[in-house]
Amino acid sequence: MLTSSKPELELARLTTRQQLAVALRVLEQNGVADNTAGHVTLREPGTNTWWSNPWNYEWASIRASDLIRLDANGQVLEGHTDPSRFLDVHFLIYEARPEINCVVHNHPFYTCLYSSLDQPLLMLDQQSCLFFEDYVIYNEYKGLVQGSDNSRAVVEALGSKRTALLKTHGLVTAAEELDAAVFQAVYLERTARLSWEASQHPAFKPEEGQMNVEVARRTRDAFRARKPPVIQLNWEGWARYVLRQTPDVLD
Ligand SMILES: [Zn+2]
Repeated sequence: MLTSSKPELELARLTTRQQLAVALRVLEQNGVADNTAGHVTLREPGTNTWWSNPWNYEWASIRASDLIRLDANGQVLEGHTDPSRFLDVHFLIYEARPEINCVVHNHPFYTCLYSSLDQPLLMLDQQSCLFFEDYVIYNEYKGLVQGSDNSRAVVEALGSKRTALLKTHGLVTAAEELDAAVFQAVYLERTARLSWEASQHPAFKPEEGQMNVEVARRTRDAFRARKPPVIQLNWEGWARYVLRQTPDVLD
């Protein structure tokens, strides 16, 4: 439980396992959830091992002790629960891009809905700009993302980008840090919702309603440079809320 008035100090003391448990609750509270589906992996710093959620637990009630630690082959090293069988895409991303430390996959409602249009995300607010020229649409749903062939196709489509919008499926988002991966997942869902609702309005004109291209690019770069530190501040705010409301997340 937080005891300091400076949650960033307390957050820094959390174990990697506890940080991921908090992140799963944050994702669930922000609509990046689909019952017990979805999986997140977070690297234990300095190792080739990752913490992940079990595949049959609701993220709304997840606790740190429910999480499992895996090696690069998906073998369980620590924990008493069962890992998802669909983690190939995570390990292929980590293999291809050593700078990545956290990957999120799930099926948020509006992400699934908007992806069915096979259209670019609309740049309708500043957080949408996070994805400007930094996402791909993967439009070849081939069934559950299981097995190396299907997963490898997703990873190849992702390339050097951070986010993939999976048509009629959901999202994959990858980042160097946990806070950025969570921010991307939460705001992809919001951007998809904005894009869907705007695209349904008869008065909406994409060429007039969207952010100026140069402004969108500068805004994206500011997010990436963390100037101002919007991503960190959001993470601290979300995490503070979770820790105050449900301190059992750390158990
Ligand atoms: Zn999925």
